[in-house]
Parts: sequence; structure tokens; C-alpha cells
Amino acid sequence: MSPRPGAPVSRYDLTRPALEALLEGEPPYRVDQLWEGLYAQGKDPSDMTGLPKPLRERLAAALPPALELAAEREADGGSTIKSVWALHDHARVESVLMAYPDRVTVCISSQAGCGMGCVFCATGQAGLTRQLTAGEIIEQVIRARRRAAPRRLGNVVFMGMGEPMANYANVWAAIERLHADVGISARRITVSTVGLVPGIRKLAAEVLPVNLAVSLHAANDELRTRLVPPNRRYPIAELVSACRDYVRTTHRRLSFEWALIDGVNDRRSDASELAALAVPLRAHVNLIPLNPTPGYAVRGTPAAGVRAFRDHLERLGVNATVRDTRGSDIDAACGQLAAGLRGGAAAADSGSAHEAVPVTAVPGV
Ligand code: SAH
Ligand code: SF4
Repeated sequence: MSPRPGAPVSRYDLTRPALEALLEGEPPYRVDQLWEGLYAQGKDPSDMTGLPKPLRERLAAALPPALELAAEREADGGSTIKSVWALHDHARVESVLMAYPDRVTVCISSQAGCGMGCVFCATGQAGLTRQLTAGEIIEQVIRARRRAAPRRLGNVVFMGMGEPMANYANVWAAIERLHADVGISARRITVSTVGLVPGIRKLAAEVLPVNLAVSLHAANDELRTRLVPPNRRYPIAELVSACRDYVRTTHRRLSFEWALIDGVNDRRSDASELAALAVPLRAHVNLIPLNPTPGYAVRGTPAAGVRAFRDHLERLGVNATVRDTRGSDIDAACGQLAAGLRGGAAAADSGSAHEAVPVTAVPGV
């Protein structure tokens, strides 16, 4: 889908045929040079020294970047890097680069803000600002790949700001181009959803197979609707049926995300209910102790409770992993994105708890 009317076209919003049109009248090999510079090297056109200077200048003006680095913060000894990006209309989004011993993963945003209203999520507490274009999504990955060098960026997860299924067309266009143009195999891309059933069904019908993560958090409708409002529209039975069809059709991995909230969804009975859903689907369960956010006054399950929950799941035959809360001290962990932003729509909702850990502004930006 093309960018909104009136918005400047950013460099990764243009497909190859559109770049060819832009270079009409130039020798055909210039298209390859520009393509290589943008997609293989992630370069700014003004740095593409293989192109004649007047052409470089014309392309730099015609192909502005979508993202301007507004702030960057490192945690976990430099292995977690949160980038805050300013968009052309001053909307802000974030991406988080996470280096592990065996892989490097970037967590990217699909929307500026989110309209789904999950009670425990800082992005949800701030509301939706707007959809991201495919170019804005792709550029987060290109920037992350450059930042990760010399290590190779291997995985992309849509677990930053926003609900990917609520911006389906742009998210899918970005995935196709990440796979075909940027060289990130669809098998290394994970789409995380709050459980929008029509989106899951659409995803199942696509040719490219991506991994699906469903943010479950509760395995009965009463509790889930309280935590995750879209559950009212797409209750658990419907969601599970869409997940079953997804796995059958795509043979891709399904995982359930479960933020462990003290005294809310961390009882033995919660684990038993979850196991009853996960076992028949062979779903992997990712347990994440809740990260505190300003708008939700409940804490994450303490470590001993997390272990007990996991052990109970495993006894019931569920494959479960406890996810580390990467970057929680810089508001880079799941659900904390937007909590520390200054200015823009998100700031109004950021509470004093986050004033103590301001995002460091990058000098000169
Ligand atoms: N909208 C999508 C993807 C972005 S949220 C979704 O909801 O799946 C990425 C993950 O972070 C989701 O699993 C979400 O439930 C989780 N999350 C949100 N707030 C959190 C918090 N405060 N602590 C832990 N996980 C959180
Ligand atoms: Fe949106 Fe996901 Fe946050 Fe829910 S958890 S408000 S769907 S970003």
C-alpha cells in the first residue's frame, strides 16, 4: 500500500519498478547500483560514490529517509539497543536490537502507538497515533542491520509498538519485501498479534510462511477480556480455531505469549487452563514476567512464582520458556515502549516512574 496522501515518499516505500521510473533516462545499470546501495548496503544516496554527483544529489532529495534517530539507549552491557525514531510528522516509534550469543534479533513497530487497549501495555495506554507505511517498517530493519554489523541480523519480530494485524496491508507488503529485497527469510520473521482472527486467517492464506505469536495472557474469556479488550470481539474458542488452521496450513511454529501478572494470571489453575489450549496445538509458551508500566498498578510475578508456573506447565506437557526482560531498565522491554517518550502523544501518558530513566538524546539530532 502506498503512503498516505500528502506524506513524503520515503526511500523504502518505493518498489524496484518505481525506482526504475525515477531513473528513467539514466543507463540501466544505475538502477542496480541504487538498489544495491539501498538494500545490500543500507546507504544514503548521497554516500553512493559510484553515482555521479548531480544524480546523487537528485536521489538524496527524491528519496528521503523515513526515520530520523531521535534518541538511542543501550542496556545489558551493550547487547540491547533501543532506538527512538522521529517520523516526518513527528510521530515517534521505537525498535529494539537484541544480541544473543547465537543470534541477533530486531523487534520492530508496525504502528505509532496502538488502539487495542491492553491494560498492562504502555503502548496501549498511549493510544493509536497512526499506521506505519511499508517503507517505515522496512527501514527499521535496514537501520538495525547496519547497527548490528559486523554481526549478522538474523531475526525480525513484530513485537514493538502496534498491532500488526490492524495494519495488515502495510505489514504484509513489508514482509514480502523484507523476504525478497532485504534477504530476511520469512521463516525468520515472527508476527505477534493480540488475536485478531481475520488477520490470522489472512496470514494463513499467504504464500510466504512466517511464525505466529499470539499474545494470550489468559485462557478463559472472563479474564482475557479484562486484560485484552479485543477478546470481546474474538473470544478464545474462535482464536484457538484460527490458530489450529494456521498451524495446519502453514506448518509454521505457533507460540503463545503470556505476561505473568502477580495474583492475576499466575495461579496453578491458570497454568492448567493454558496447558489445555497449548498441548493440542503443540504451541510453545513464552512466559514474560510483566514489565511495570505507569498505567497499571500490578507487579510482575516474582521469580519463584515464574519457575513454579513454568514447571507446572512442563509437567502438563507444554514446552515453555521464560523470556528475559531485556532492556527493562531503559524501557526497551515488551510493553514498555512509549513509556519513556518525550513529546508527542505518548508522553501525556508516561508517568513519573519513567522520569528516572530518560532516553538519552543523540547529540546533533
Ligand atoms: N500488538 C502485538 C505486538 C506488540 S506487543 C501483540 O500484542 O502481540 C508485544 C508483546 O509484548 C505482546 O505479547 C504483549 O502482550 C507484550 N506486552 C505488552 N505489555 C507488556 C508488559 N507490560 N509486560 C510484558 N509484556 C508485555
Ligand atoms: Fe497493542 Fe500489543 Fe500493546 Fe495490546 S499488547 S496494546 S495489542 S501493542
